[in-house]
This record gives sequence, C-alpha cells and structure tokens, in this order.
Amino acid sequence: MFEDSLFYQQALQQLETVADRVGVNKGTIDRLKAPKRSIIVTVPVRMDNGDVKVFNGYRVQHSLTAGPGKGGLRYSPNVDLGEVAALAMFMSWKCGLVHLPFGGAKGGINCNPRELSAGEMERVTRRFTQEMLPFIGPNVDVMAPDMGTGEREMAWIYDTYSMHLGASCPQIVTGKSAALYGTLGRREATGRGVVYCIEEAARAIDLKLSKASAIVQGFGNVGSVAAVELAMRGVKIKGVADVSGCYIAEDGVDPMDLLTHMETHKTLEGYPAIAKISKEEFFAIDCDILVPAAMERQITAEMAPNLRCRIIAEGANGPTTNEADAWINENTDIFLIPDILCNAGGVIVSYFEWVQDMQMFFWSAQEVDSRLQQLIRRAFLACHHYARNENVSMREAALILGIGQVAQEKAARGLFP
Ligand code: NAD
Repeated sequence: MFEDSLFYQQALQQLETVADRVGVNKGTIDRLKAPKRSIIVTVPVRMDNGDVKVFNGYRVQHSLTAGPGKGGLRYSPNVDLGEVAALAMFMSWKCGLVHLPFGGAKGGINCNPRELSAGEMERVTRRFTQEMLPFIGPNVDVMAPDMGTGEREMAWIYDTYSMHLGASCPQIVTGKSAALYGTLGRREATGRGVVYCIEEAARAIDLKLSKASAIVQGFGNVGSVAAVELAMRGVKIKGVADVSGCYIAEDGVDPMDLLTHMETHKTLEGYPAIAKISKEEFFAIDCDILVPAAMERQITAEMAPNLRCRIIAEGANGPTTNEADAWINENTDIFLIPDILCNAGGVIVSYFEWVQDMQMFFWSAQEVDSRLQQLIRRAFLACHHYARNENVSMREAALILGIGQVAQEKAARGLFP
C-alpha cells in the first residue's frame, strides 16, 4: 500500500509538521492524511510483436472537496501507488494555495515511454482511459500531462472518453494542443510560472537576473521552458541534466540550441559544448539559481551541504527530501521556492483550459499569460508575507496556506452523513 512509500511518507510528514497551525480540528486533519479514493487497474496491451504485456495503472483522488480532481498522468517505469498518492496530496495543497476550484489527484502507469512505439503508447493510453471511465469526468476528475506524457496522450484520452460518451468532450483533459481545444500557453505554463516565482524571489534577495547564473535538472516540459525563459532574462545557464546524465558549461549554454539538438538526439547526450559530470558535482556547481525540474527526492541530506546557490526553485514535485529541506532551512540563507507554489503555473493554466472548454469560449495567449502571472505572483507574495510575519520557512508558509484552505473548506462543509 501507499504507506510504505518513502515519497508518501515525505508528503504525510509535511502535513503533520504544520497540522496544528492550519486552524481545524484533528478529525479534519485525519481526513486529509489518506486519499479519498485509490484506484489500481491492470492495463493489458498488445505489443507490436504480438505479445500481450500487462502494465499497472494508478489514479489517486486525494480530495474532491473543492471540485473535480485535478492532476497529471505520469508514465515512468518505477511509478507506484505511493508515488501517485503523494503527488495527489501535493495537488490538493497546490489547488488550495492558488484558490482553484479543484481537488487533488494524480495518475501513473508503470511503463517506459522511451521503450514503447507510438502505437503501443496509444494502446496503453486508450486502455487505461477505458479502465478509468467509471472514475473520471469533467466534473469528477480531469487528467493532465506529467512526466512522460504530453499533448498527444491527452488527445487520445479526450478521444477515448468522447467515443464512449457519444459526444465530443474536450473538458475531460487539459494539456491538449490548441488545435484540439486546449489553451494557448499551457505547454509553457509550468516553466513560465517557475520563472515568475524566481523573479519575485530575486527581487526579495536583491539579485539581478541579468547578472545571474542557473543550473537546471530535467530538460523536459518544465526544465526546458524554465531554462529558455531564464536565458531570455539574461541568466547564464551553467549546467543542465536529464535522464542521460549531468552536464556543465562554465561559459553558459544556449537552451534553444539544446532543444534543437534534442529534436534529433532525444536527450542532452552528445551536445558538443557541455561536459559530463557526476550528479554530486552537478548540484555543487556555483550558481545563483538551482531549478530541480526532473523528479522527486533529488536533493538529499548528503547533497544539501554542497549546494552553492542562492535560490532553489522547485519545478519538480517533491525534489527535496524533508531532511535536506530542514538542513537547508537551518544552515543556509538559500531562498527556497517550494514545489506547490513554484510549479503551480501548470495547474493554473489547466484551470484556464477547463474554464474555456466548459464555455467553448477561448482566450488570447496574452490573456492566459497575464492571468497566470496575476495568480502565481499573488500566491508567491501571500506565502512570502506569511513566512516573514510568522517567522516560518517559505515551504511551511505554502503548506499552511494550501492545507489551510482545503481543511477549512472540508470543515465548513461538514461530514456526510
Ligand atoms: P518531462 O517528462 O517532460 O521531463 C522530465 C525530464 O526529467 C526529462 O528531461 C528527463 O530526461 C529528466 N529525467 C528523468 N529521469 C531523470 C533522472 N533520473 N535524473 C535526471 N533527469 C531525469 O516531465 P515534466 O512534465 O517536465 O515534469 C518534470 C517534473 O515537474 C515532475 O516532477 C512533474 O511532476 C513536475 N510538474 C510538471 C508539470 C507539467 O505541467 N508538466 C506541472 C507541475 C509539476
């Protein structure tokens, strides 16, 4: 079960750390400690060679108090129920923090997208959607992209669901292409949100971005957009990392050029102007901004004393272990922008997409971006204000405000029956 997962324990411990400061009784907190629903399905798929392979699929709906469950669908070889349950919990707090009318949910399938053909990916996605039909809906649970999934997979979910319904239902998923009634700006939303938070943090510590340097772990949707947006503000990208390894570029590297390289090579490997280093060396690069944008539990207690940055912007969910977080908080003046705030741009623009699809009335890219900035900067300033006034860390502030919102809604609605 999910309780055995280190990542789930990390999420639960965060809740317990702030529980007595969110202003609700123990019964309400207890209701938030475990997900409302945890669904495990088998996903049998005919592979290209004719064999049948059975994958495990998960969807966890942590809370549906504020509205439909909202959260990504992750394709990764090691994904399990604990990881998905932890991520669903983070989604609840994130939606609470930015005041979105959504509950928290997350899904995953333990497959390796790098080893599957397009046809196999499609059959995995459609069969998983079929298994999820009783549990999803535009007012029940709305999926979105996460690690290993993107616009293509969202289109297949949209199509499978619509075929069953007998009518087109784009509002069943977010993160679709704009051509399929997605929203402009969704693909860039999380990375841009990360950089809007970095701008606010830089202002708070008086750091000039045009003279700053950064390292970025993960060069997928979140990491690559964050790197490009930072470079556009004059930040020197001194290090990058992805599944192929960690790399240093003392004189800086152009993230747009890296993206061109990845179009043919798929990973960062083989790009001429970067040198491979160990993960330990990567996190120890002297820089102003560290953006972990790959996966959870990357900054550990062993690694924390070697960090040489002034800002950590958590693009990924749960990239810092609780032990590392405590060490950083007690021993450094690093400005840490916690995940539920820093990467909230994704769910904010997913909300915009859902609203547009519900109304079949679409916004301009400029409208999407200015509303994104308004919501994420407001959430940043609320956390920063709370952290300073109450003398707590930015992570504690974000958790207290996010959990507080969800807990108070739960308490106010009462317990059925
Ligand atoms: P993605 O699949 O587009 O990219 C993931 C990146 O991480 C890839 O560059 C991959 O090579 C790299 N990676 C994978 N394993 C690695 C490892 N062991 N070491 C180093 N790098 C590794 O995924 P994404 O959508 O960019 O998501 C990245 C993180 O951001 C995840 O934690 C996800 O939950 C979080 N997130 C994503 C969104 C979104 O809108 N996509 C929103 C909020 C949070």
